[in-house]
Amino acid sequence: MSHALQFNNVCLDYPLANGQGTLHALDKLDLCVEAGESLAIIGPSGCGKSSLLRLATGLVQASGGNVLVHGSALSKPRPDTALILQNFGLLPWKTVYQNAELGLRIQKVPAAQRKERTLAALKQVELDSFAQSYPAELSGGMQQRLALARAIATDVNLLLMDEPLSALDALLRETLQNTLLNLWKQRAYAQVLVTHSIEEAVFLGQRIVVMAPRPGRVVAVINNPHMGSETFRNEALFYEQCHAVREALEGARSLAHAANVNPAHLSSKE
Ligand code: ADP
Ligand code: MG
Repeated sequence: MSHALQFNNVCLDYPLANGQGTLHALDKLDLCVEAGESLAIIGPSGCGKSSLLRLATGLVQASGGNVLVHGSALSKPRPDTALILQNFGLLPWKTVYQNAELGLRIQKVPAAQRKERTLAALKQVELDSFAQSYPAELSGGMQQRLALARAIATDVNLLLMDEPLSALDALLRETLQNTLLNLWKQRAYAQVLVTHSIEEAVFLGQRIVVMAPRPGRVVAVINNPHMGSETFRNEALFYEQCHAVREALEGARSLAHAANVNPAHLSSKE
């Protein structure tokens, strides 16, 4: 069986704006996501989480190592991978229906099938009765549900999410976490969720990857096999797992602090 996503010894360098050398954003990263698996990634800002997702989409190429999606090297974005961002990425001049349909249009799916799949996706995120509304008429939570509908309409097998719930208030975030959990269970795609929230990582990740910055790397992987139900939030084990992630994050932050004192991640050109 091929892995949904595999990073082998991946490095990513960005040129510095002043032209003086490069910033080593990711260093020798190894990571594997199985088909149908839910992986959460957490780490201080600047540790390369968004860069990692961009590499996984094929929008950005690695400076070293290789990135495989379902066993194939990526040279360009694939139609069955979706990336969802914090700011929803909706087109304000298009209706809810047209926004949800967008990915299918890009994939050139025939009209009849497009309609059926768009309506089914909208129904699944409970937005079917808003099909003719515009994004501005929706709450933040509804807008993010619409972004999700657009992704699942295209039958993704790899769903990448970059802090998708950060723009929402805390109560809404829990509701949307439930939506993310239930969609993942029903649709069985592999997902990678980048989050700032320890609770969110523990609620949604079967494994939780903790990263440290400068250069971005994995410092801990926490197995979380008991996630998978909405009631997990109320269990003692949930709090224990949050505690374990918090400790690993504190370790990552102290590494980050040491790197700020001695910024060895910058390699100057002389
Ligand atoms: P995170 O999402 O964890 O906050 P990013 O992947 O956005 O981290 O960034 C990792 C590092 O790479 C940061 O130091 C950031 O400043 C740098 N970086 C990100 N994107 C670019 C870019 N396009 N050009 C130059 N540097 C970048
Ligand atoms: Mg980011």
